[in-house]
Amino acid sequence: MDKYRIYAMSFAAMLVLSSSVPGCADKRGTSPAAEKEGAIKVYSSKTKGFVMSEKIIKTDLEWKKQLAPEQFHVLREKGTEMAGTGIYANHHEPGIYHCAGCDLELFRSEAKYESGTGWPSFFSPISPENIKTVADNSLFSRRTEVLCRRCDGHLGHVFDDGPRPTGLRYCMNSAALKFETGRK
Ligand SMILES: [Zn+2]
Repeated sequence: MDKYRIYAMSFAAMLVLSSSVPGCADKRGTSPAAEKEGAIKVYSSKTKGFVMSEKIIKTDLEWKKQLAPEQFHVLREKGTEMAGTGIYANHHEPGIYHCAGCDLELFRSEAKYESGTGWPSFFSPISPENIKTVADNSLFSRRTEVLCRRCDGHLGHVFDDGPRPTGLRYCMNSAALKFETGRK
């Protein structure tokens, strides 16, 4: 066996290993690598099933016109609101939390729990199809960023210290969310 063949085989083995690492993005949301431009499949509570939708792509100027400054800072500049300051940190009404940018449904109130962090926390999204996760190595730490699948707005981060049944804590910014009461 020549040297190049050995290299090729070990490279292929590395690919297999890296794609099977536990906690990879595809368990929690749609991996960016699988993302296609244009049409996406997302969950809708209106139809209680999946619907086709279009990715929403806007310029910063367009987003600024539509969003409040705090919403723009979080969604489009990956900002983080101060703990305890967001309107949904201690919010416990039944309903659905939507993306403040594009109105996509993101979290059910049934998955919201008191994490004690001062940020609205959920143990799962309404559907893994409706969010996207990417590795975030900023601030000298390894975190997993959570984005809206439709408009790529920054929502917050997901951590492994959540309650059952998922063991995950989706730590969100209130400014990235818009609550709609009632509908399940
Ligand atoms: Zn969105």
